[in-house]
Amino acid sequence: MPTDRPPLAIRMHAADNVAIVANDGGLPAGTVLPDGLTLRDKVPQGHKVALTDIAAGGVVRRYNVPVGYARQSIAAGSWVHERLLDIPPARALQGLPMATVAAPDWAPLQGYSFDGFVNADGSVGTRNLLAITTTVQCVAGVVGIAAERIRTELLPQFPHVDGVVALEHTYGCGVAIDAPGAEIPQRTLRHISQNPNFGGELLMVSLGCEKLQPDRLIPPGTIALRPEGQPLNNVCLQDDAHVGFMSMIDEIVQRARPILQRLNARRRTTVSASKLVVGVQCGGSDAFSGVTANPAVGAMADLVVRAGGTVMFSENTEVRDSVEQLTSRAATPEVAEAIVRELGWYDAYLDRGRVDRAANTSPGNKAGGLSNIAEKAMGSVIKSGSAAIAHVLPPGEKLKADQTGLVFAATPASDFICGTLQLAAGMNVHVFTTGRGTPYGLAACPVVKVATRSDLARRWHDLMDVNAGRIADGEQTIEEAGWALFHLLLDVASGRKKTWAEHWKLHNALVLFNPAPVT
Ligand code: CA
Repeated sequence: MPTDRPPLAIRMHAADNVAIVANDGGLPAGTVLPDGLTLRDKVPQGHKVALTDIAAGGVVRRYNVPVGYARQSIAAGSWVHERLLDIPPARALQGLPMATVAAPDWAPLQGYSFDGFVNADGSVGTRNLLAITTTVQCVAGVVGIAAERIRTELLPQFPHVDGVVALEHTYGCGVAIDAPGAEIPQRTLRHISQNPNFGGELLMVSLGCEKLQPDRLIPPGTIALRPEGQPLNNVCLQDDAHVGFMSMIDEIVQRARPILQRLNARRRTTVSASKLVVGVQCGGSDAFSGVTANPAVGAMADLVVRAGGTVMFSENTEVRDSVEQLTSRAATPEVAEAIVRELGWYDAYLDRGRVDRAANTSPGNKAGGLSNIAEKAMGSVIKSGSAAIAHVLPPGEKLKADQTGLVFAATPASDFICGTLQLAAGMNVHVFTTGRGTPYGLAACPVVKVATRSDLARRWHDLMDVNAGRIADGEQTIEEAGWALFHLLLDVASGRKKTWAEHWKLHNALVLFNPAPVT
C-alpha cells in the first residue's frame, strides 16, 4: 500500500481484539484509524494494534483464536508486540474432534487442463528433465562436472529436454543407516528419483564403498526405474575400469545420451487438471501471510481439489497449533488418527532436542509482525483451503496413484527440507508464499512465488511471480486471487510460462530430513 493511502488496519474476524496495520512503513502514533481509534504508539507494518483495552493475563485474539496472553495490561491503540505476549500452550493431542466437519458441498470443476508429459505410471511431468541420482555425497563434485558437460555438449542436440538435474545431497556414510528414523532420508532419495518430472528414467552414480548401496537405494522391483531383468543403470566410480577422472565423466556423459534421446522424443499432451500435484508451503512469513498470500493459495487449493487434483500442505510446526482444525477436517477418523500420529511423532522428535514448536519462529517473522508460532500457524494453515483432508503422508513417502485431493504431507517447516520431501511425494508444481522475501527455487520442479505485500512485489519485481498484496490494497478479492493463481498454475505446468526462479536458474539444494544419529 503506497504511503499516501489512508490508514488501514485489517481485522481477520469480528471477535478479534487486535488488527494489523497494512500501510507501508507502518503508522505513527496519533494516527486515527477509520473506526476512530487513535494509535498510542508507532505501529510497524504488519504489526498488531489493540482494538480494545486488554487486561493483564487477558487473551489476545486473532483469526478468532488466542494467539497469546497479555503479560501486562495493554490499552486500546497500543502496539501489541511479541514481548507483551505469552504463547498459549500447545493443544494436547488427546480428545481432539475427529472427522467432525462435513466436507464442503461443492460441484466438481470440469474442463480445466494443462499440457504435460505423461509417464508410464500415469503420473504427469510439468517439465522434461534428465535427473542424475546419487547414492552418496562423495560423488557430488564429479556428478556436478558431468552434468555441466551434458548441459553444454549434449543438451543443444535435444531441444525438447528442459534441463539436467544432479540430485546431490548430504547423505554419507556417517549415517547410522539402520537406526530408527534412518529410513526417512533413504526413502526420500528413492522417491525423488521417481518424481514425475524425470520421465521414469534412471541414471545413477555411486561411489562403491558407501553404506547406501545402489541396490538398497533403488531395490529390484522399483517399477519403471528398474525394469525386470535389466541391470541398474549405474556408474560406479570405484569400478576398476575407471582410470583417471575423465574416464568417470565420460561414462556418465555417455550413459546420459540414450536417456536424452528417449526424453527428447516425448511431447506434451493435454491432460486433465486432475493430474496437478501441487505442493504448497511458505517461508519468510510475515503477518500478511495469513491475510493475503496464504488465503489466496487456500482458494487456489480448493479449485485444484475441485478439479480432481492433489494439493499437499506440510510444515508440522506451523500447523501444530491448528491441530484441532486439521483433525476435525479429516475425511475419516483414520485420517484424523494419522494426523495425530504424525504430529505426535514430531512433538517427540522436537522434545529429544529439548525444544518445541515455539522454536520455529525467526527474527524476520517477528520483525514482520508475527509474535509467536501460535499466530504464525493460524496464518499458515489457511494455505490448505477448506477441503476435507483426504490423506496423510509420512515424510519421504510417495503418493500412490489413488491418493488425490487434499493431503497433509507431514514434513518439517524448513523450506528446503519441506520442498525436498514434497518432491519425493511426487509434486509436479510448487507454490511458495513469502512476506519477508526469499529467492527460493528448486531445480526439479517449477516454483511459483507469491508475495504477501505489494511493497515486496515492487522491490522484488523479477523474483516474485504473483503479488497477493493486491488483496490488502483492496484491488483484488481472495477468490479472484485464487482463480488467477489456478490459471497461472495451468500455464506454468504447461510450460507456457516460466517462473522467475526458472528464468534466473535459482535452485536451492536438496536437503534431507534425517532424524537418525550420525556417527
Ligand atoms: Ca517453510
